[in-house]
Amino acid sequence: MALAPTRRRLAIALVHHPVLDKAGDVVTSAVTNIDVHDLSRSARTFGATDFFVTTPIEAQRTLVDTILGHWTRGSSGERIPSRRDALGIVRVVSTLDDAIAALGGREAVEVWTTAARSDAGTAPMIPTYGEAAARLQSDDPRAVLVVFGTSWGLAPSLVAASDHRLPPIEGPTAYNHLSVRAACAIILDRLVRLVR
Ligand code: SAM
Repeated sequence: MALAPTRRRLAIALVHHPVLDKAGDVVTSAVTNIDVHDLSRSARTFGATDFFVTTPIEAQRTLVDTILGHWTRGSSGERIPSRRDALGIVRVVSTLDDAIAALGGREAVEVWTTAARSDAGTAPMIPTYGEAAARLQSDDPRAVLVVFGTSWGLAPSLVAASDHRLPPIEGPTAYNHLSVRAACAIILDRLVRLVR
């Protein structure tokens, strides 16, 4: 049974800078083609209006735009129309601020960040996914932009500038090393699944 769409506009972003490396330094990660494909399919499935891929590297933006062109205007999209539909919501921009601007500016957007750890930043945490799902159904006019990181996670400066953190997705063990692709699908399912 299809879920009802969220009342508030929902968009996601996959950030490649500023993110952390293994040493905890702020770096720029490379765009991974499978991330773009997988997150666009999840975003389209759960009713997000936009999927922003952010990278400050112009050559990477050009590469992603070229790939998108094959799928949205070229033969690949003819061969797999469902993938064309998913990749059609992808927007390639330089920074997270560009994504926020595309959604109407900082006053028109509530930014929620994600991480595998609960100490990955200082923005207040929305306590449960039930609470977050309810907020998406509220009459708050602002769009919600859910931000995913790469490499070893979002830089603290980016998290600090966000409005809220979402709780980490956790299993019954101490092992917690989800890919961003898996984490995005789980999080969107929890955010869009209505509180019954
Ligand atoms: N140690 C990093 C962290 O704490 O975010 C893991 C980075 S993971 C390879 C890349 C991204 O996937 C994270 O920035 C986050 O957006 C998402 N992610 C990974 N595991 C997650 C989890 N358990 N809960 C929520 N988001 C997760």
